Amino acid sequence: MNTQLQPFTPPVSVRVGLLEGYERVTFRYTGRYRIETRSGELLREADASQLKWRVLREKSTPTKFLFSVLVASFTTREEAMALAEQFEDRGLQAAMRQIGGPIEIDGQIIGDNTLYRVQVGNFQIEEDARHLLAKLELDYAPRLVREVLTQSSGRLEMFDQSLEQHYESTDGFRLVPVEPESRLTILGVRMNSGFAYEPTEDRTYEGMIEFYVDHEGDIAALTEIPIDVYLRGVVATEMPVDYPEEALRAQAIASRSLVIATKSIKHLNDPFELCAHVHCQVYSGVTYENPTVTKAVTDTRGNILFNNGIVVDAHYSKVCGGHTEDVLATWMTPPVYAGKGVPCDCTGEMEVPDLMTESGARRWIQSRPKSSCNLDGIDLPVSRAYGRKHFRWETTLLRSELEEIILTKTGVDIGMLYDILPIRRGRSGRLMEVEVLGSLANLRIKRELRIRRQLSHTALESSSFLVEVLTDSQGNPMELVFTGAGWGHGVGMCQAGAAQMASRGMNALQILVHYYPDCKVEKKY
Ligand SMILES: [Zn+2]
Ligand SMILES: [Zn+2]
Repeated sequence: MNTQLQPFTPPVSVRVGLLEGYERVTFRYTGRYRIETRSGELLREADASQLKWRVLREKSTPTKFLFSVLVASFTTREEAMALAEQFEDRGLQAAMRQIGGPIEIDGQIIGDNTLYRVQVGNFQIEEDARHLLAKLELDYAPRLVREVLTQSSGRLEMFDQSLEQHYESTDGFRLVPVEPESRLTILGVRMNSGFAYEPTEDRTYEGMIEFYVDHEGDIAALTEIPIDVYLRGVVATEMPVDYPEEALRAQAIASRSLVIATKSIKHLNDPFELCAHVHCQVYSGVTYENPTVTKAVTDTRGNILFNNGIVVDAHYSKVCGGHTEDVLATWMTPPVYAGKGVPCDCTGEMEVPDLMTESGARRWIQSRPKSSCNLDGIDLPVSRAYGRKHFRWETTLLRSELEEIILTKTGVDIGMLYDILPIRRGRSGRLMEVEVLGSLANLRIKRELRIRRQLSHTALESSSFLVEVLTDSQGNPMELVFTGAGWGHGVGMCQAGAAQMASRGMNALQILVHYYPDCKVEKKY
C-alpha cells in the first residue's frame, strides 16, 4: 500500500514560524506521521500514536549576530547607493543590502518586490548599534537590524510518554503527515498577546511540522503548507467568522495579496518566511477552521490585488475610526503600494474635517461620525459588536506610571512629565510624531506604532488620540487622559467597516476597491 500522499505541488507554499523560545514542547497527533531529522534521515516509519510526545532541548548555543542600523529602503539601487555614499562621506560605514526579488506563482513571474536597504554601522555588540541609532533618530526613522554571524546550534531530543520511542538530533526533527486527515496538536502555545499575563491555547495543524533550535538556543517549530491552507487559518483568526460572507472573501483576498507581496522580505534571518503573530498575520493552524471561511478562501482561489501590475501588500486593521490612513505615513520601508487613506464610508455623505490639523482631529475624535465602522444603533451579535468599544475609546494613566513606562521603554529619564504635544498627524488623524515634555528632557517619538507602544504598558489602541493633563490644586500634572479613535494602524481595509458594507449589499470586489483605491483583483492560479 502506498502510504505517501500524492505529490502535490501548490502554486505557492509558505513557511510559517509557529512558535519560538520554548524550553519544552508537548504535542500529540491523530492519523499517521513519518518522523525524520530535518535533513531527511528516516527515524520512524509512518505510524499512528495514541501518546503525548515531548521535545526537549539539551545543550545549545545561541546565534551570534552582527547589528547595524537600517536607515532607509528604496525600490531602486541608485537611490540606495547615493544615500550609502552620503554616510561613507560622513565617515560612517554603510552597506547596501538587496532583499526580496521576483515573485513567482506557478512558474510565472507576477511581480517583483526587490528592495535596496541602506544599513549603517556593523557591530558585534547590540548596545553600540543602539547608540548609533539614537544619533540617527532625528533625521531618519531608523530601525535596528541584525544579521546572522554564526547560527545557533544544539541537540534536541524527542520521546513519547511511555519513553519507548526516543530520538536525538542535532538538526531538529520533521514530522511528515502521510494521510490527508493527519493532524498534530501542540499543547499550550503562547498567544503572543503582549500582555503581562500570557494566555496559551492548544493549536492543531495540518501539514509538515519541524522542531529546531531557534536563535536563542530554545525550541521552535515551523510548518510548510500551501498558501490557501495557510489562509484558511489566517482568515479564521484575523476576522470574526460570523462576519458576512463578502467581508470574509475580501479578507481572504487581502490576506493572500499581503502574503505574496511580503513573504520574502520579512524574516530574513529565520528559516521561515512568516511568523504566526500580528507582525505578519495571526495563524492558528486548523484550530478555528470554519466552513464559511474555508469557502471564502476556496471561492477566491488565486485572486490577488494588483496596482499597476504590482502585487499589493494589502494591510488591514480592526477599526479605522472613520477614516483610513496613508500607507506612506505609516511604514518606514517603501510600501509596494502607496495607497492614500479614504473615508470609511460608502455613502459619500459623511463629512470629514482636515484630520491633519489639530482642530479637525479634535472635532473628529470627540464626535461619532457616521462611518461604516460606527456601529451605533445597529443590533449585532457579540462577536461583531466588539468593534463598538474601539470606535471611540478613553484610557487614563497616572503621570508617575507613564514616566516609568517611558523610562523602561526608551531608556530616557524625562523627569516630571508635563505634557504630550502633537507634532504631526496623518490623514486619518493618527499621530505620526509627538513630543513628550519633561522637567529633565523632552522626547520626540516618531511613527505610529512606536507612539502607541512607548506611551502604554502594552500599546494604545491607535495613535489617533487627544491628551488631556489633569492637575492637582497646585497645578502639578497628576493624570493623563487619552481619548482616541479606532483600533490598529488604520491602513487599508477597515474590517469592521467592511463587515457593514457587506451587510448593506456590497460585494468583496467593491469593498476592496473602496479601501485600496486604484487596485484591481486578478486571478493568478
Ligand atoms: Zn512576522
Ligand atoms: Zn472604518
